[in-house]
Amino acid sequence: MDKKVEFKKGTYCFGAPVKHQKYLDLPFAREWQPHNEDWGLPHNWKEIIIQGMKTLLNRYRSFKLFMDVCVRCGACADKCHFFIGTGDPKNMPVLRAELLRSVYRRYFTLQGRIFGRLVGARDLTEEILKEWFYYFYQCTECRRCSLYCPYGIDTCEITMMGRELLNLLGCNIQWIIEPASNSYRTGNHLGVPPLAFKETMEFAVDEIKELTGIKIDVPINKKGAEVLFVAPSADYFASPHWYTLLGYLMLFHEVGLDYTWSAFASEGGNFGLFHSYELMKKLNAKIYEEAKRLRVKWILGGECGHMWRVIHQYMDTINGPADFLEEPVSPITGTRFENAKSTKVVHIAEFTADLIFHNKLKLDKSRNDKWVVTFHDSCNTARSMGLFEEPRFILRNVCNRFYEMPENTIREKTFCCGSGAGLGADENLEARLKGGFPRAYAVKYVKEKYGVNMVACMCAIDKASLPTLFEYWVGGVDVCGIHELVGNALVMTGEMERTKDLRGEPLSSGKNNEDLRQ
Ligand code: SF4
Ligand code: SF4
Ligand code: SF4
Repeated sequence: MDKKVEFKKGTYCFGAPVKHQKYLDLPFAREWQPHNEDWGLPHNWKEIIIQGMKTLLNRYRSFKLFMDVCVRCGACADKCHFFIGTGDPKNMPVLRAELLRSVYRRYFTLQGRIFGRLVGARDLTEEILKEWFYYFYQCTECRRCSLYCPYGIDTCEITMMGRELLNLLGCNIQWIIEPASNSYRTGNHLGVPPLAFKETMEFAVDEIKELTGIKIDVPINKKGAEVLFVAPSADYFASPHWYTLLGYLMLFHEVGLDYTWSAFASEGGNFGLFHSYELMKKLNAKIYEEAKRLRVKWILGGECGHMWRVIHQYMDTINGPADFLEEPVSPITGTRFENAKSTKVVHIAEFTADLIFHNKLKLDKSRNDKWVVTFHDSCNTARSMGLFEEPRFILRNVCNRFYEMPENTIREKTFCCGSGAGLGADENLEARLKGGFPRAYAVKYVKEKYGVNMVACMCAIDKASLPTLFEYWVGGVDVCGIHELVGNALVMTGEMERTKDLRGEPLSSGKNNEDLRQ
């Protein structure tokens, strides 16, 4: 337990730049790096942490419970992808939590105060603080471990508490603070201003015209539209996310959805979730505010992982209730999305699956015949939301060859990509590749068994991180969003003969693949 933490290149994230810390008005903003011997901590740092811990223990009953009830049974020990990938014992969820629990014991329990180390209590030192930083930024808050704990201890929440405490001393990472500050300033992680956002959408319109011959309309800031659509900004900036965006736009045009984007709520993702409750709340607020300003009836959300964690588990209480919105009803099928009764936000997979279920889309599966597809359940939509069937139902309807990865690596047992919760930086690539190893290994298995060459997923971070992961561990496997495959298969009214898929590559004709059709 007392082994000094070593900040080895490739295994940790860089500190946040001071200008972004200042923009968010964070405490003790300074230029700082984790590998520095001197962290430049305020003289009373210890009191700040102990007081902060006291506040969190009073605010969150779950935190207090998680500190007290672990019996060290070890059921969670080998369930974390970071432990499997690195072999580092402190990446076992039980030991990760113990880093904080040992300090809790020392300052907040009678036994700890009296017996100290005899009962596993530790005095708070700078070394322990460094250890917290290292291991709480080697946890993707994926919650896989919680599934196996007989007491329901969620180490993700312990990590969240650890990060909140480090924030009090201005110890945070660039890959969280910079997108969060951009989002606060412009509405999205990338800092794209409204005019550039509009130009990007025009570019997408041109691409769709070239592929299908159809000129579609992309409404932005349209007051009185029925639905506000919010997606992660990576969808209109990064690749392969871009093809998912084209898929959404084609789908909305085809079914005649009366919707709008907002140039201000132009980000579904919320890096505040990886920082603190306050920042998460602040960044999420714009979605309901824009829904109010644009006078829509309900909200539709795109393919993102942690965006849905915030919407599904926090939005209603942190920024709601959204009584000014209506219970979502699909204007095309009449389906009432009762599950979204309180948040008023429907997931795009639910929306599209419902369209397919009611035969509202003409789909040619053979257009995706060059892909042998598997599905990676993003932890946030799967484990935290229970969205298991809808994406699978869509995939089975838009492609002929779909195969599941092994049972213990999918649905609620899914393995994280290794880059979530703000860890998708470049400087910690070694840790990410190790953390993503169990996911990659399951993909390798279906590649060898069924010839899988495409992994579909519904998370912007997955789309950004999985290609590198698979290139390193597997090879010959691509990554896409569900709605890219929907866009390929969608036969649009009045379209010209399609020769290219959404990537601009020759479309599978399907003519030589009759045997693949179900
Ligand atoms: S939440 Fe995920 S990353 Fe964190 S300890 Fe549990 S399994 Fe590991
Ligand atoms: S499974 Fe639960 S009780 Fe057992 S060691 Fe892990 S956190 Fe503690
Ligand atoms: S990035 Fe995706 S797979 Fe990784 S933690 Fe987030 S939702 Fe899970």
